[in-house]
Amino acid sequence: RTVYLNGEYLSETEAKVSIFDRAFLMADGVYEVTSVLGGKLIDFGGHLKRLERSLNELDMKKPAAFDDLLEIHRKLVELNGIDEGLIYLQVTRGAPGDRDFAFPDPETTEPTLVLFTQNKPGLADNPTAKKGIKVISIDDIRWGRRDIKTVQLLYPSMGKMMAKKAGADDAWMVEDGFVTEGTSNNAYIVKDGKIITRNLSTDILHGITRAAVLKFAREAQMIVEERPFTVDEAKDADEAFFTSASAFVMPVVEIDGTAIGGGSVGQVATRLREIYLEESIKAGV
Ligand code: PLP
Repeated sequence: RTVYLNGEYLSETEAKVSIFDRAFLMADGVYEVTSVLGGKLIDFGGHLKRLERSLNELDMKKPAAFDDLLEIHRKLVELNGIDEGLIYLQVTRGAPGDRDFAFPDPETTEPTLVLFTQNKPGLADNPTAKKGIKVISIDDIRWGRRDIKTVQLLYPSMGKMMAKKAGADDAWMVEDGFVTEGTSNNAYIVKDGKIITRNLSTDILHGITRAAVLKFAREAQMIVEERPFTVDEAKDADEAFFTSASAFVMPVVEIDGTAIGGGSVGQVATRLREIYLEESIKAGV
């Protein structure tokens, strides 16, 4: 696989980052994951906009212009022959040469920019989307700026492991009695025809897929309610699903062992998945 590191296209075994890189020592970095369908980048503009926002919130330097980042994405897709898959992009505050809590002077320390591809044939035509997945609920004990897409992913990783141990596929996190989001996705329920998902705030990541799916839902005259919901509401819902750049719209058919909507995939989730795939592939760059 060919990867990108600070201006160079290298083989993955050649690409090396300093042990003083602040992402390695302090999780001082942000990232984006963009999906590739039919060789095209999906929702690229949204991902780049959120990257800029994450960088701004953390006083981090932008590593390259929008057009250059688009070019790097496209070149990696081409070099690695990706038809369906993902592109991971990470920007860190760089490697100042020693460990220090204070941020290094941005004049002297350049950001580290890394991109790599993941080949995932069958990403769009995923059989799991026809079956749905099971989630468990866990406490949300993450930090308070979940709107910034940082590489601090230890608790979400632990959440996935807790889910696996419980025989489920993922975990939905709960704070003050309300679901915040999934370990790597935004959470939704459907009740009496209404799509309910937590409103945007610093409590959750502002999903790029979420924004697109809610826009398509409203355009299709579906009713959307942006507000927190409880696990009990999810158990009592007609449907549940999650969204993310790598899974698109994924039905959820069980929470904490209770079947949702009779345990089978719902119509709203199925329709939204179809609309999302169709429209976002059309708009792919
Ligand atoms: N919430 C969290 C915590 C995530 O990690 C992600 C994606 O990685 C999402 C939501 C979904 O965001 P997006 O649709 O931009 O992939």
